Amino acid sequence: MTTTDERQPGAPVVSLGMPLVGGALGRAHGHGTSGLETSETDDRSARLAAVRAGDIGSVHSWELVTAVDGPGTRMTVFLSGCPLRCLYCHNPDTMEMRRGTDVPADELLARIARYRGVMQATGGGLTISGGEPLMQPAFVRRLLHGARAMGIHTALDTSGYLGSHLSDEMLDHVDMVLLDVKSGDPDTYKKVTGRELAPTLEFGRRLAARGTEIWVRFVLVPGLTDDVANVEAVASYVATLSSVTRVEVLPFHQMGRDKWADLGLEYQLEDTQPPTPELVERVREQFRSRGLTTF
Ligand code: SF4
Repeated sequence: MTTTDERQPGAPVVSLGMPLVGGALGRAHGHGTSGLETSETDDRSARLAAVRAGDIGSVHSWELVTAVDGPGTRMTVFLSGCPLRCLYCHNPDTMEMRRGTDVPADELLARIARYRGVMQATGGGLTISGGEPLMQPAFVRRLLHGARAMGIHTALDTSGYLGSHLSDEMLDHVDMVLLDVKSGDPDTYKKVTGRELAPTLEFGRRLAARGTEIWVRFVLVPGLTDDVANVEAVASYVATLSSVTRVEVLPFHQMGRDKWADLGLEYQLEDTQPPTPELVERVREQFRSRGLTTF
C-alpha cells in the first residue's frame, strides 16, 4: 500500500484510539483501545488457523478520515505487513506483520458498524490500507464481506503488487481501488520499492477490464520519481485504464523520517527535499494533458 504513508500533511485525521503499535508513533500497545478487544493466545496452531480463516488479522491502526483515502468520511484500517520496501515509506513500522496487533474481524466490523451512519451520510465508507492489505487476503475478504453486508462502500488501498491474491469474488465486494503506481519505468520502480513493476500494471488492467473504479496515486520524489520520462510512462499507462476517475500526485515529505531511525533501518532520503510547487504543477500537468482529472 499506501497509505497513510503517502498522505499529504494537514489532512484531517481523527484517531479512534486503536491499539497503535510500533514505538515510532509514540503509542504503546493497548493504550486507548476504546473498548476494542484484541486477540491474545498462546496456542500458536489455533492462532494460525484463525489467521488463515481470516478470523484474525494483524492490524497496525485505524483512523476516521475525511477527504482522503476515498470519497466522504471513511474508516481507514491499516493492516500490517508489506512486501515492498519503498525508500520514502512514511510508516516503515507497517512493513513487518509481526509488529501488528491481532484483532478479530468481528471486533473490527462491530467498530465499523458504529460509524455506518456518518459514512453513509457523507458518501464515505471503509478503506482497507496498510502496509499492504493483500498480505492478508482472508482477513480482507472477511472485512469486505462484512462491510458490504452493512451496505458500506468499500475501497482497497494497494500497490497492486499482490493483486493476484485478490480473487474475482473478492473484487465483487470492492467498490473502488486506490492504486499506487510508484513509477512507470521498471528500473526506477525496482529502485524505489525493491520489487517488480509488472504485477501492478497487470492488476490495474484487470481492474479496468472489470470496470472497477480506480484512483491512482503517484508519490513525487525529487531525484527519484520526478524524471519527465518516468512520469510520462506512468501517465501514458494510466490513460489506458478506462475506469480511472482521479489521479493524485502526492508530494514527498519528511514526516516519516524519524521512524526509520527508531526501527534501526537505514533511511536513504535524508537529504531529499520536498518538490517545489513548480515541479508538482509540471507533473500534474503531465497527467492532465492525457485528459486525467488530477489533484
Ligand atoms: S513500503 Fe509498503 S507501506 Fe511503505 S510506502 Fe511502500 S507500499 Fe506503502
